[in-house]
Amino acid sequence: MVRAIVGANWGDEGKGKITDMLAKESDIVIRFQGGSNAGHTIINNYGKFALHLLPSGVFYSHITNIIGNGVALNIPYLLEEVKSLEDRGVPAPHILVSDRAQIMMPYHILQDTYEEARLAGKSFGSTKSGIAPFYSDKYAKIGFQVSELFDKEALKEKVERVCEIKNVLFEHLYHKPLIVPEELYETLLSYAEMVRPYVCDVSAYLHQALSEGKNILLEGQLGSLKDPDHGIYPMVTSSSTLAAYGAIGAGIPPYEIRQITAVVKAYSSAVGAGAFVSEIFGDEADELRRRGGDGGEFGATTGRPRRMGWFDAVASRYGCRIQGATEAVLTVLDVLGYLDELPVCVGYEIDGQITRDFPTTDKLNRAVPVYEKLPGWKCDIRGIRRYEDLPENCRRYVEFIEKELEVPVTMVSNGPGRNDIILR
Ligand code: GDP
Repeated sequence: MVRAIVGANWGDEGKGKITDMLAKESDIVIRFQGGSNAGHTIINNYGKFALHLLPSGVFYSHITNIIGNGVALNIPYLLEEVKSLEDRGVPAPHILVSDRAQIMMPYHILQDTYEEARLAGKSFGSTKSGIAPFYSDKYAKIGFQVSELFDKEALKEKVERVCEIKNVLFEHLYHKPLIVPEELYETLLSYAEMVRPYVCDVSAYLHQALSEGKNILLEGQLGSLKDPDHGIYPMVTSSSTLAAYGAIGAGIPPYEIRQITAVVKAYSSAVGAGAFVSEIFGDEADELRRRGGDGGEFGATTGRPRRMGWFDAVASRYGCRIQGATEAVLTVLDVLGYLDELPVCVGYEIDGQITRDFPTTDKLNRAVPVYEKLPGWKCDIRGIRRYEDLPENCRRYVEFIEKELEVPVTMVSNGPGRNDIILR
């Protein structure tokens, strides 16, 4: 059985916590897209961790954690992340890396950084992890698959060829030092030794695992609205954030994905630029940011303050639909206990017309939120374990959101810890 856990919003919905929680019953956890550009925060018996590249199953010794072919694989980063867990007493996790995963090159990170500087005020709010240049090169067919590290001669020739292209950019567009092919080649030989113990024909491994009836979790990064096709293009990420891509980015048949769990946040937050219809500002935003998440809403990778907003039913319903959600998990509900009333964005007014459908970016930029206000519950709901024990106004908020999402809300998260969960 394959289950995907994915974000229905702009990312930072709390997928890490939900994956960590559900991982317990899984045999395999797979990252299928993205790279080390976003973080998952996990709080468990070992402490508080921000994972960037590793799958969230690394805290369980019975789980095989897989970096799928769809991931942007930063090899030194992977090793550092493994070491940082071991340094804090986590037993060495079982990790496999797809031989078809492509490698994040040092020049991708440089290119990302240079490009952000070149665009200055018009930048996309990149985390400078090299993601956009990485995926551009993958589809331009000048990327390097892990398997290519082990054929030295072919590798050397390709490094020289790719450096020619990159150096034109570095010299003439960015006016930066050139890449030295010999140095890059040596770096890649060191990558080969670092990654060698983990390399695996992942799709064959998963084919076998599926035939044995293993439980597999696909772990998404970011959320629906950051998808390059269905999100707020161009303020998106460069790999698909959708459950459907899980089949490709892991190497399994699409029909094997039976359960799609969309993680939906009880209010809105976003990092980076781009349209954000229900955004709030000033003291109102500061207060929500300060109380939000676990110790404030700041990016797990960059530490940047997140943009805050009220729950956006238009964006979240679309986010669930485009994921193909079979269920939704509503997270960080506990944070909202301080409010007298809770505005929910139930429609967008665009050019004088009200719509419930999430539009393309040009229209989105002109959208004005239409709010409906629900009464607050004015108390702390952390520690509550049964749905019926939640205050009535809190249940009303959950049920209002469920109706708007058009997807059953099967779990409500009311705290950052593993056990802060209410099953419905
Ligand atoms: P992810 O990338 O989707 O995994 O999300 P992040 O980990 O970046 O952000 C979620 C933040 O909210 C983390 O700091 C979590 O510890 C925290 N968190 C997750 N679920 C809850 C919850 O139900 N309540 C509270 N207060 N914090 C939560």
